[in-house]
Amino acid sequence: MNKGALIIISGPSGSGKDTVLKELFKVMPEIEFSISSVTRNMREGEVEGEKYNFISRESFEKMIKNDQLLEYNVYCGNYYGTPKAPVEKCINNGGEIVLEIDVNGAGNVRKNCPDNFSIFIAPPSFEVLKNRLTGRGTETAEVIEKRLAEAKTEMARAVEYDYIVINDDLKEAVEDIRRIILSERRRLNRNTDLLNNL
Ligand code: 5GP
Repeated sequence: MNKGALIIISGPSGSGKDTVLKELFKVMPEIEFSISSVTRNMREGEVEGEKYNFISRESFEKMIKNDQLLEYNVYCGNYYGTPKAPVEKCINNGGEIVLEIDVNGAGNVRKNCPDNFSIFIAPPSFEVLKNRLTGRGTETAEVIEKRLAEAKTEMARAVEYDYIVINDDLKEAVEDIRRIILSERRRLNRNTDLLNNL
């Protein structure tokens, strides 16, 4: 069995990472997605249990206390966290799982989980990001300002990642990520069984 991997994917709000990931899962359906627990309100169009489990602060704090989270962070006043169990199950079965998390969460996963690689999805420019966030129409002006400020800080930390993908053309961005994942599968340390059987 090949060794599994955690695929950390980050990018500022408005980088288009959700759309990129949706397309990626169409071409690589074998890859799992880690459903985060979150205390923010559900946005219009979001579905419980699809990308997030929407829970109360009280339930979230219980998860922290019971050591049920691989990592968590406070982003714009809300808790976001990765439940441990599904990730461990996937990795133990030699699978790959995408963790779509922020730069702080990514730092914690790098520190605590060895079998990972990370991809930063960036917009072609800050101007494009601003237009995408404003055009989305799902957040108030105040929230957009907060997210833009957060985006600036996040973009400065792109240097911490193994790969960077610019989401200008959706198809190209998806193909870039697919190729990164394919290359990562050929890493020697993920293929020890194959080596031993030679
Ligand atoms: P949004 O509210 O736009 O869905 O997400 C806000 C930010 O939280 C994004 O940068 C997203 O990647 C990040 N995020 C989503 N889930 C998690 C998680 O489980 N842990 C951490 N640390 N960040 C998360």
